[in-house]
Amino acid sequence: PRVGVVRETNDGERRVALVPKTVTALVGKGVDVIVESGAGLGALIPDSLYTDAGATIGDAWSTDVVVKVAPPSDAEVGKLSKGQTLIGFLAPRNADNKIGALKAAGVQAFAVEAIPRISRAQVMDALSSQGNVSGYKAVLLAASESTRFFPMLTTAAGTVKPATVLILGVGVAGLQALATAKRLGGRPTGYDVRPEVADQVRSVGAQWLDLGIDAAGEGGYARELTEDERAQQQKALEDAIKGFDVVITTALVPGRPAPRLVTAAAVEGMKPGSVIVDLAGETGGNCELTEPGQTVVKHDVTICSPLNLPATMPEHASELYAKNISALLELMLVEGDGASGATGNVTVEPDFTDQVLADSCVTREREAN
Ligand code: NAD
Repeated sequence: PRVGVVRETNDGERRVALVPKTVTALVGKGVDVIVESGAGLGALIPDSLYTDAGATIGDAWSTDVVVKVAPPSDAEVGKLSKGQTLIGFLAPRNADNKIGALKAAGVQAFAVEAIPRISRAQVMDALSSQGNVSGYKAVLLAASESTRFFPMLTTAAGTVKPATVLILGVGVAGLQALATAKRLGGRPTGYDVRPEVADQVRSVGAQWLDLGIDAAGEGGYARELTEDERAQQQKALEDAIKGFDVVITTALVPGRPAPRLVTAAAVEGMKPGSVIVDLAGETGGNCELTEPGQTVVKHDVTICSPLNLPATMPEHASELYAKNISALLELMLVEGDGASGATGNVTVEPDFTDQVLADSCVTREREAN
């Protein structure tokens, strides 16, 4: 099959779906890789490195499988036609997703967001690989916005206390944020509504904040809180947040607006010079005063809401994403006399009895069973 790596067009998107190392591996499996000229430039990968790796520079949009990072624009959907396969982030739970248009165009689309969170699929889990980047970068952003040191410093001019850092929501991004804050010399504390996370928090050397709310939902995700629980949580957090120099929020509930964890009153209660980094801006933010995509100062507290942190570390973010994408692609490859009857040939033929492919394919009519 021909696999196309296209150039991303979203504002600020610097990632690319395959890097040369993954190209070589796919070529070795009998795949032809076509790269759109300049596709890797945002991640500092020139066309020449792709050709060295065995790819051809050419029309990546007219291939059997187009691989991408960001969800396609209308113009990009227009470049696809019947029978093609698309793999990438497709934001299937966003109201303005392009899944209807892809289905109408006869495109078989796989959304990496819909890959199940099971052990076998970890290597393909792009939410996790990119969540790690976000969690790490959120801490660096907080540290650079902060008016205080992260580590404890003992100097001739006096001693500085370590920064106290509260991470709200300890999924993949939150856990990486805790570990990063710890490595920077801060004192991290983690909080989540899934009590099973407490051990993971402690395992990275952080404290666990227990507010007595258990909202573990399905598939390892959290459920939305009831109104009473939300009020109880906001009040308890208002008290807790006062004591922290930095708050990083990552709380999400699939398909729902971001839970409101940090009220305006909680921000007002923080010490002047404190910093909040809200990673949930895309779904409205975890903090009441967040302005998605902006950095604002409210009550002398700096509130940052970056929308695409993985794109700010395009080299490693792309490397990890490329591994996710090539693992998912490899799962669809059939060698020799596959279902199509072709021999001595590698084809793309997703086996929809495989849960990973069945769940992630978002344009296929679900058979009732
Ligand atoms: P996520 O991005 O959906 O949410 C981030 C965190 O916010 C979650 O930990 C969630 O519990 C928390 N949260 C939601 N509402 C909250 C509230 N009101 N207050 C406080 N916290 C709240 O999470 P994620 O990073 O995608 O991880 C989800 C789960 O998937 C985790 O259990 C993770 O360990 C698991 N996981 C499994 C695999 C795998 O096995 N393949 C891979 C990655 C993640």
